[in-house]
Amino acid sequence: MARRVTRQYGEPMTEKFDSRNPATGDVVGTFPVHTAEDVNAAVERARGAAAWWGDLGYAGRRGRLRAWRTQLVQRIDELADLVHRENGKPVGDAISEVVLAAEHLSWAAANAARVLGRHRVAPGMLAINQTASTTYVPYGVIGVIGPWNYPVHTPLGSISYALAAGNAVVFKPSEYTPAVGAWLAESFASVVPEQPVFQLVTGSGDTGAALCRAGVDKLAFTGSAATGKTVMASCAGTLTPVLIECGGKDALIVAGDADLDAAVDATVWGGMSNAGQTCAGVERVYVVSSVYEDFVARVSRAARLIHGGTHYGPMTMPAQIDVVRRHIDDALARGGRAVVGGPDSVQPPYVQPVVLVDVPEDSAAVQEETFGPTLTITRVRDVDEAIERANASPYGLGGAVFSAKQGDQIADRLSCGMVSINSALTYAAVPGLPWGGLRNSGFGRIHGPDGLREFAWPRAVTHQRFAPTIRALTFRRTPRDVARLKRVVQARWGR
Ligand code: NDP
Repeated sequence: MARRVTRQYGEPMTEKFDSRNPATGDVVGTFPVHTAEDVNAAVERARGAAAWWGDLGYAGRRGRLRAWRTQLVQRIDELADLVHRENGKPVGDAISEVVLAAEHLSWAAANAARVLGRHRVAPGMLAINQTASTTYVPYGVIGVIGPWNYPVHTPLGSISYALAAGNAVVFKPSEYTPAVGAWLAESFASVVPEQPVFQLVTGSGDTGAALCRAGVDKLAFTGSAATGKTVMASCAGTLTPVLIECGGKDALIVAGDADLDAAVDATVWGGMSNAGQTCAGVERVYVVSSVYEDFVARVSRAARLIHGGTHYGPMTMPAQIDVVRRHIDDALARGGRAVVGGPDSVQPPYVQPVVLVDVPEDSAAVQEETFGPTLTITRVRDVDEAIERANASPYGLGGAVFSAKQGDQIADRLSCGMVSINSALTYAAVPGLPWGGLRNSGFGRIHGPDGLREFAWPRAVTHQRFAPTIRALTFRRTPRDVARLKRVVQARWGR
């Protein structure tokens, strides 16, 4: 991040940084590098806003969140153009991203009361004289730290659900996409002008670290596993709970009875779209031997028609280009073959499609997140071997399966948080489904009922309706009460 220090007359010194168009280098916007004091002040302001927002109740918040969704949709061209300029992805992809975000925002607003409102539960034998219920209480202030690859959809996956649950939010976007973050905060403020319910802080990792330590009530992080560990460590000091959504190394399995046309289309889209910069993008493909040759030939033909700069944009973060180059070089040095592209496909700021075969399973291209438009395709004996290899990853975010008859059985055996059968990444479009992973892909869930509960804590309440028939929880308990208690439990469970 290139920083510079500026001072306006009579004002304190402020550090600023530019966000730039990754394709052209043009400045998209200039933003303050917020210090720990700035972040603390934002969290302090958020406290009051959280109380006001909480008091609006589900219905009041639903109306505001719907108005915000309408803003996103009415101004979709403006937002998509900004995403295109700042992140680099084609406008069509940016529009899809906003559509997805609007769908989730809508769902969170519509379902918060149903999911988080009071639920009666059966009191059970020992508390037959009580009614029992659970309510979900918003934490208060949620810190959200987001990545640059889906700068609208990904942070809103936390922000929409946190707001719908009744929290205020302080959001630190990636230093590569602060203008999109600012657009989101400003558009929210235009429909909720009364209080700073959704604030933005900008800067680098230091600003994110300050947010972790600012006394937020929960921190929702989306980014790499390496930063996720640092975030957890920062939050540990104050026992601040964390939600961690990290990267993936998602596998797509092609069984012998798969619709190969559909599998090829999903493989190329899932692997190359957004220049492969998708946390749940397809990076590894395991294909059953009987259809392997045909599948590789078809994927190769399809991938050769895809062009970085037309079908997808540049690499948003320059440093990622070195990772992609290293994975390709390492795979080839260890006996892999490139059937599409190769080392020359790395043409900064673009990377053209690369399809690798015969890559050893312990190489970087199979073990680490590449986050580029590359695929490894591996021949497997049968579906069992495909599942075993798909699961042998330090990551466990998503996966995809292509099979006419065995889709559900294969999906049930995959050790990852999300699976699409006969398509790729489709679970992202279903707002009622939870989103999240296992192992290095993190823990906790956004989206769906689980995503709402992630931003509220459960309060258990019992309400005594009449005196207990057997006195158990009192010093007035007599030996006769204990004997009755014993008889009841023996009658119930002892036979
Ligand atoms: P990073 O981990 O580099 O950064 C993520 C965010 O953390 C950024 O806002 C970054 O700020 C901030 N940050 C950096 N250092 C710290 C720190 N010490 N303390 C607190 N915050 C810090 O990830 P990327 O932005 O490069 O995003 C790509 C990664 O995100 C990939 O691994 C991808 O798979 C993952 N991802 C996961 C998703 C999921 O839902 N599971 C969805 C989308 C992406 P700055 O940018 O200013 O350094």
